[in-house]
Parts: sequence; C-alpha cells; structure tokens
Amino acid sequence: MARTPLLAGNWKMHGTVAATRKLIAELRKAVDGVSGRDVAVAPPFSALPAAAEALAGSSIILAAQNVHGEPKGAFTGEISAEMLVEVGCRAAIIGHSERRQLFGETDAGVNQRTKAALAAGLLPIVCVGETLAEREADETLAFVKRQVEGALLHFDAAAIRRVCIAYEPVWAIGTGRTATPAQAEEVHAAIRAVVASCADRPTADSVRILYGGSVKPDNVDDLMREPDIDGALVGGASLDAASFARIVEFRS
Ligand code: PEP
Repeated sequence: MARTPLLAGNWKMHGTVAATRKLIAELRKAVDGVSGRDVAVAPPFSALPAAAEALAGSSIILAAQNVHGEPKGAFTGEISAEMLVEVGCRAAIIGHSERRQLFGETDAGVNQRTKAALAAGLLPIVCVGETLAEREADETLAFVKRQVEGALLHFDAAAIRRVCIAYEPVWAIGTGRTATPAQAEEVHAAIRAVVASCADRPTADSVRILYGGSVKPDNVDDLMREPDIDGALVGGASLDAASFARIVEFRS
C-alpha cells in the first residue's frame, strides 16, 4: 500500500512571530514545488496565526504542538482543537515525549487529546517511544505497544485510519544519537502489527508511521529506505530552512 511520506517539523519553543514568518518564507522558496510528499510545520502557539498567513497558498500543513482533550473549560494553559482549527491548523502533535516527561501527560490523556483532534478534523501525530533504560532492559517493544494501545483505546478502524504515529525513541531526541535504520524499522514494524491488532491489516497498512530522533540531512535517506518508515518528525534540523528542505527532499 502506497503511503504518502510526511515530513513534519516540530519547532518546539523556538520562534517569535517575526522569526516564524522568516523561516516559513525561506522554507516555501525551497519546498513549495515538491510533490509526492506531505510537509508540515508546528510553530509555537503564539505564532500560529502569523504562520497561517505566511502559508496562504502553500500546501505545507500547519500543525500545533499539542491539543487538549476537552472542547472548553477551566484548563489554564491548554488549547482546544476548535481553537487550533480556527487559526488554520490541520494537524496536531500529541504526546510528545517532552510533554510526557516534563508535563506529566499520560496514555489516557493522549487518547483523549487524539479523540478531540479527530473530532475537529485535525490530523493527530501521536508520539510514542522508549527511554534508554527501557531499551537497555529489552522492554522497547512491550513499552511502545502499551503506548500505542493506550493512544488508540476504543477507536474504531475508521478513526485509526486518520491517525499518524511518530516513533521517537527518547534517547535519540535532541541528542544527535539517531536510531539505526534497522533499530527504527524493527519498532515501526512492531507498531504496525499493534495497529493491525487494534483495527485490521488494511488499516495498519494505511497508517503513516514517522520516525523522530535526530533526523538530519545526512541520515534521512537511509531511514526512509526502510519499508515501514513513512516520514520523519524533525526537531532541531527543522529550524533551518535548508536542512529541513533537504530532509523533505529525501532520496530513497
Ligand atoms: C522532536 O522533538 O520531535 C525531535 C525528534 O527532535 P530532534 O530532531 O531535535 O531530535
């Protein structure tokens, strides 16, 4: 089954409104004409309206870095799916390891947030991934399986088909230490099997599974050659237009 690759940039807490406009203008020059792949960027919340304006007429997808599970209410510091759609978002990163580790997000919360994103028509990019301790204890596959099952709990196949999963080993994020293509492929194939058990094989074959963790211009081609790697979620290297453009233009 052909899956359109998705290359998504997670800008984290980087970028004033002016810096966002500049980076998007540079990126558009480099990738607006690229076909056969989807591209997304996730600037900080404060820059989303400016980013939407700067992306007018471009096929680059505007994504948020998080979304709350409830539509409104007393949730200080959170943002709803409807609010994100209103400012032009079409996707949302959910359950990034920084959210899980630094802000206490749980599998149950990730499930709620994913449900809310789907209800609003956003593409959820659900992040999973083990820590170094879990990898060294040989618990990677069991751990990631729990996270995927938790994220997709009670979803039917039609809903699961609209989810994108990002496998991001925590030990590879922002460390310069990338999983080898073989290490990543092993987990991606296992995630696809978990998705098949939550839904069915055709659904699993249609779901995009991105790799994230120190993806750079010099390792993206090898990663993208793996059969179950359908794209990348990119942190640091997405803050530079030339390096993100090279990642978007991966050759496999
Ligand atoms: C990320 O934040 O999702 C990420 C993968 O970061 P980096 O590419 O910098 O490792």
